[in-house]
Amino acid sequence: MEDRFAFLTEWYDPTAALLRRYQLFYYPKDSSVEMFDVKNQRIFLRRTKYDDIHQEDLFVGNRVNVFSRQLNLIEYGDQYTANKLGSKKERTLALIKPDVVTKIGDVLELIYSSNLIVTKAKMTKLTWSQAADFYVEHQSKPFFNNLVQFVSSGPVVAMEVMGDEAVSLWRGLLGPADSAVARREAPQSARAQFGTDGIKNVGHGSDSLAAAARELEFFFPSTIGHGPSNTAIYSDCTCCIIKPHAMSEGLTGKILNSISAAGFEISALEMFSVDRANAEEFYEVYKGVVSEYTSMVTELCSGPCMVLEIHGTDTPQTFRDFCGPADPEIARHLRPTTLRALYGKDRVKNAVHCTDLPEDGVLEVQYFFKILDG
Ligand code: ADP
Ligand code: MG
Repeated sequence: MEDRFAFLTEWYDPTAALLRRYQLFYYPKDSSVEMFDVKNQRIFLRRTKYDDIHQEDLFVGNRVNVFSRQLNLIEYGDQYTANKLGSKKERTLALIKPDVVTKIGDVLELIYSSNLIVTKAKMTKLTWSQAADFYVEHQSKPFFNNLVQFVSSGPVVAMEVMGDEAVSLWRGLLGPADSAVARREAPQSARAQFGTDGIKNVGHGSDSLAAAARELEFFFPSTIGHGPSNTAIYSDCTCCIIKPHAMSEGLTGKILNSISAAGFEISALEMFSVDRANAEEFYEVYKGVVSEYTSMVTELCSGPCMVLEIHGTDTPQTFRDFCGPADPEIARHLRPTTLRALYGKDRVKNAVHCTDLPEDGVLEVQYFFKILDG
């Protein structure tokens, strides 16, 4: 019998403004897909070879792209699929502490290299009392005050990380809590490489599934209320979007590293899943001006993207130069060290969006961090 994996999926149909449900089938033998329309009870997509889907992306909670439709995998379609693909999937909180926020690219590279994926991310700054709430289990420890003081001393990046045994894998990637011990016992670990001591130790990882659920709820609440707010400052800034194709190609860490290495300050960072209506609105100024407008919209809503506020005087101009010409082919000829030359594929999948006109920097940053972040 041929292997077949089944999922119940949802797709937001922007034309009808409806959530549509499909069964999605994936056949690993020839990497083909098939879709069945649940409401109308008929085949929607006949079995077709499709190389852009990979078995490791197929688990509930993830999103996959099938012929430019962004499908949310909401349930396993049968017990076989659940057992085979879902049994070890976990979610955990990975918190990057203030000592290494400028090394977030390196930390993401570690995460991706372990087959984990980042499904949510937000830079925030905790108040003393928020940090104390977060670490309430350590309230009676002698280091509590120092810990809370440190974690609220600067920006942190909270991430939801997902994958097989994510809870223990991420703690393993961090290594022992004391960075000096980490250097002795786990020299490849993040704390060994980037940590300073027992307090400035790179990150936090939930220590159980229950703690993960609680800690994810703290940063990414599912109910009304937004959790700790983002760090956007809305002045002397420009907007950079790491596009969905670059995220799914695993380039996020490399792009963030390049941005930091070039000396730019990332003053806000958050992942968004942009729907079509918002992508159209965001790119409105390009409508009728740039022939790729429709493809740009489709790319921006094809999966999660990461939005950055880049801060500094003259940033709109200097950061644009650093991104390079919109066409990566041209960029590779004329400006080979720019982001688009290094990470872009074509004019639409060109790795990053950045604000065109200096006066639009604040507006574009506001669009994401004020309007879409709610
Ligand atoms: P982990 O972060 O590995 O889960 P713990 O839960 O034991 O470690 O402690 C939480 C945090 O408190 C640590 O990451 C570290 O920042 C701080 N911490 C723990 N033990 C000490 C200590 N003896 N001295 C100073 N800080 C400590
Ligand atoms: Mg702990």
